[in-house]
Amino acid sequence: MNYPIFDGHNDTILSLYLKKPGERRSFSEKSDSGHIDLPRAREGGLFGGFFAHFIPNQAKSEQLSPGSYPGTSSDAAGGYEVKKAVGLPYEYATRFAMGMANLMFEIERDSGGELKLVRTVSEIAQCMQDGVMAMIYHFEGAEMIDEDLNALYLFYQAGMRSLGPVWSRDNIFAHGVPFKFPSSPDVGPGLTDAGKRLLRACNELGVLFDLSHLNEKGFWDVESLSNAPLVATHSNAHALCQSARNLTDKQLDAIRATNGVVGLNYHVGFLREDGKSVKDSSLSDIVRHARYMADRIGTDHIALGSDFDGAMMPADLKDAAGLPKLVQALADAGFDHGDLEKITHKNWLRVLRDTWE
Ligand SMILES: [Zn+2]
Repeated sequence: MNYPIFDGHNDTILSLYLKKPGERRSFSEKSDSGHIDLPRAREGGLFGGFFAHFIPNQAKSEQLSPGSYPGTSSDAAGGYEVKKAVGLPYEYATRFAMGMANLMFEIERDSGGELKLVRTVSEIAQCMQDGVMAMIYHFEGAEMIDEDLNALYLFYQAGMRSLGPVWSRDNIFAHGVPFKFPSSPDVGPGLTDAGKRLLRACNELGVLFDLSHLNEKGFWDVESLSNAPLVATHSNAHALCQSARNLTDKQLDAIRATNGVVGLNYHVGFLREDGKSVKDSSLSDIVRHARYMADRIGTDHIALGSDFDGAMMPADLKDAAGLPKLVQALADAGFDHGDLEKITHKNWLRVLRDTWE
């Protein structure tokens, strides 16, 4: 079942950047590795989304691969906790961010017009119409931005239109939620003063301020200070999977109250009731979270936020080419045509219009 799909989160640029130029798969050619390239995106109906720029941990021993995190300790009951990553030096983060930005522009150039960096919703709508892939330049963790926020304005000029102040570690702006199961997301203090200034500047510029990876106190700081809809680009329901990365019912309600949106994350460890990252998982878990959220906050406030190229996908979904199977499963679960249009792309376009314009 094919619907045009706009997606809240992928790590495709990073997955390509981490490979040496000679060993890098081409974004334009169909591959068996990773989750997104242009042919597989086209097959699945994926016409655009948030392309995250994420700065990995500096020490090799602290770097992660899809579905596996180093420094993990587990307990007999099946719970786990990942040792929180150390903060990043600004110089390292900036150098890395520049390299990723250059690769992004190179891929856009090499695509021959098949992939386009987008800054407005009308550009996204045009991409949808023309069969061009729309790419939002998004920061997952703002370590490349200085406390004076000069870099924010520079990156904005380069096309950046969305950022999460933190990944799951701490920085000068905020405190990330740990990878921990079972755990409440209420871990650590809220936004710092610099984080509040960053939020105000994003509100003024019309840059989306993403809540996924932010801890709960930070979430409520944003809720009380922001003038934009609340958005979590790639998170699930804590009531169904008690990972600290997921959203409590109260947080979901707050997102609805601001006419915001949650992008459903396909990472099996954030979907399964037991919190385990097990390859042999089913996309029916995504449907379970969709149903729960729809019953709680309505289909105007749920969307998709795959985590493709950065997480472990359910075996029966596999990659972007498998998206029609997910849409079919949602239809089988009772979501009607109007719901599916909203979930697959319309909600994202509405929230981006409300945030950017
Ligand atoms: Zn993430």
